[in-house]
Amino acid sequence: MLHITNTMTGKKQPVQANNKNLSLYVCGITPYASAHIGHGRCYISFDLLFRLLTFLQYKVTYCRNITDIDDKLLHAAEAKYGDKMRYQEIATYFFDQFKKQMSLLNIKNPTVEPRVTEHIQDIIAFIDVLIEKGHAYQIDGDVYFAINTYPAYGSLSGQKTEHMLAGARVEVNDKKKNPLDFVLWKGEQTGFWPSPWGNGRPGWHIECSAMAAHFFGDRLDIHAGGLDLIFPHHENEKAQSESRFGVSFADCWMHNGLVTVNHEKMSKSVGNFITLEEVTATYHPMVVRYYFLTFHYKAPAEFNNEGLDSAFKTYERLVQWASPVWNKNPSNITCSIMKKHSLTQKLLSALCDDLNTPAFLGILFENLKLITQDTQLHQTVVAFIQTVLGLDLAALPEKELVLTAEIKDLIAQREKARALKDWKKADALRELLLAKGYVVQDKKQ
Ligand SMILES: [Zn+2]
Repeated sequence: MLHITNTMTGKKQPVQANNKNLSLYVCGITPYASAHIGHGRCYISFDLLFRLLTFLQYKVTYCRNITDIDDKLLHAAEAKYGDKMRYQEIATYFFDQFKKQMSLLNIKNPTVEPRVTEHIQDIIAFIDVLIEKGHAYQIDGDVYFAINTYPAYGSLSGQKTEHMLAGARVEVNDKKKNPLDFVLWKGEQTGFWPSPWGNGRPGWHIECSAMAAHFFGDRLDIHAGGLDLIFPHHENEKAQSESRFGVSFADCWMHNGLVTVNHEKMSKSVGNFITLEEVTATYHPMVVRYYFLTFHYKAPAEFNNEGLDSAFKTYERLVQWASPVWNKNPSNITCSIMKKHSLTQKLLSALCDDLNTPAFLGILFENLKLITQDTQLHQTVVAFIQTVLGLDLAALPEKELVLTAEIKDLIAQREKARALKDWKKADALRELLLAKGYVVQDKKQ
């Protein structure tokens, strides 16, 4: 049975599902710029969850939204075209780019991928109910959620409202009754969508509550996202949905740890922002996926070239190990096949224990030799890694060898030494070449 840590309690809990029908909602991107490695990590983590749940025969409906209307998109359109109303062109461009990267990283498409602009009526109806129930109020053309009408506010992030006020950079807005009240509808003089409160557009948080309600009704089995979304985004989603429906919004809240680059938080101001496009142009996407799987999804992941270089070597080793039984389309494996052997049982148990990929890889690498001694077992493990870990294990393309004049000269010197049967010199030159990163293989005569 699969256990997952619930952010609400900090404890692992079994995944419950109604007749194995399971709803999974993961907050998606705002496509106003290229997706970065933080997005890569988040969607690899929940792709692993999606694959594992499917393997365990849950009937998963996985929803990942697209925020295609937002301040950031409007700013990007204004900057690029001098016309904020061309924000859909920005959204489409960066969303296409994102999809390409998701596919390179072997991240499966979610079951549904709704755009906010397709759900404006759901959002308006949701806000209407909140106003009716006294949880939201209108001022001028804006609508705000009143957090004092929802006593559990802060229960997800474990904060008291006084601390939130002190800690959060609360925007100065005299219109709000409480500085922590957040916007549900942003009034606009012209354009966007008509509503009972005048023209406008939705705030960020309400979209997820409205789309979750559209696809799943009053509650979710698993709601997931990056750690940085706990507050305020998920706290606000929870407040909206629970105020509307009066039941617990999500059975399990799941959050992946953040990515640091050279031990610093990734941020535009520090200039250490790495896009997925950049990293997959330098490293094979399967090496990037493998690298992230070496961390537990909840732990912070440090991203640097040394780490990726070493992940490349280990992944290459794994590919070679898999090659004798590798098949592009691996045979169907099932839970009962995995339970046939104590080793595969151990591997599956590691993943079922809160997606413990480091433990999985530890058991795997300890037993590589043993596994290859049994063809059936070897086939099963390779197919499982392909199917559930999403590592395709296909042969990595050979890198084109660029030989500098210095390297060519060293190779020529070594050839000469070999011709003169000066083995000592030939070996010393081989060592020298190795130190410079070149492995010399002599063809058999
Ligand atoms: Zn969300």
